[in-house]
Amino acid sequence: MSRRRQIYEGKAKILYEGPEPGTLIQYFKDDATAFNAQKKGTINGKGVINNRISEHVFTRLSHIGIPTHFIRRLNMREQLVRQCEIVPIEVVLRNVAAGSICKRLGLEEGDPLPHTLIEYYYKDDALGDPLIAEEHIACFGWASPEEMQDISSMAIRINDFMSGMFAAIDIRLVDFKLEFGRIWDGDFSRIILADEISPDGCRLWDMKTGEKLDKDRFRRDLGGEEEAYQEVARRLGLLENADGGPGEVLDMANHRSRMRNTPPKK
Ligand code: UDP
Repeated sequence: MSRRRQIYEGKAKILYEGPEPGTLIQYFKDDATAFNAQKKGTINGKGVINNRISEHVFTRLSHIGIPTHFIRRLNMREQLVRQCEIVPIEVVLRNVAAGSICKRLGLEEGDPLPHTLIEYYYKDDALGDPLIAEEHIACFGWASPEEMQDISSMAIRINDFMSGMFAAIDIRLVDFKLEFGRIWDGDFSRIILADEISPDGCRLWDMKTGEKLDKDRFRRDLGGEEEAYQEVARRLGLLENADGGPGEVLDMANHRSRMRNTPPKK
């Protein structure tokens, strides 16, 4: 097999040239970083689970008419996506106070917000992804006002849909981050949802116990991050086949026991 050309390596993913023009392969790593990459580690099996969770969420979002870069999952750690020009803005949706907003505004973690907040951060690791206003986006031309209209209306629909999807499995969607891209067709471009949606970029709390089921387990050294990510996938129905047997993701987890010549769990 010929070696693929690597286009970009990020903190949790690698992008390779895709099989056709205008496509990329998105590879999910087990690497985890926090606090602007000052803290580094790995979460075993995270890439496999995030690939599957992201496939699920993007597919469901496409069913409600959100255009996305996702084409199809290729294997345990890779998906085929449309190549796009990433808008250099992280879009954060908040339903409950947690993380940086608590520090910035002196809120208590878990405080309900009067209504959903949408925030924008400039994507620049060297600057630590600073919080910006729409004024900055317009002033520096990072996205046009029309693009920002598409981005904000899609982000709000995505939040509504995902809040319901997670509520149905007893998970509170506290906050999450989205990234969007531009696809060019001659002189015209349109905005699509890009990157990934997984417990790496969402705060997910168990509705009954308040237990954290996301990357905060890693950020705060709470332990049990593998189990937490698996629990999200399990509740989304991604770890079991229709016949009740283990699905592909769990199969992967059982791979080692198969190698030791023991039958896979049924
Ligand atoms: N987030 C992310 N990537 C970033 C910054 C934030 O995925 O570079 C996600 C984060 O996981 C959380 C939400 O966006 O779900 C809000 O993050 P916050 O601003 O509270 O920052 P943090 O506490 O992660 O520093």
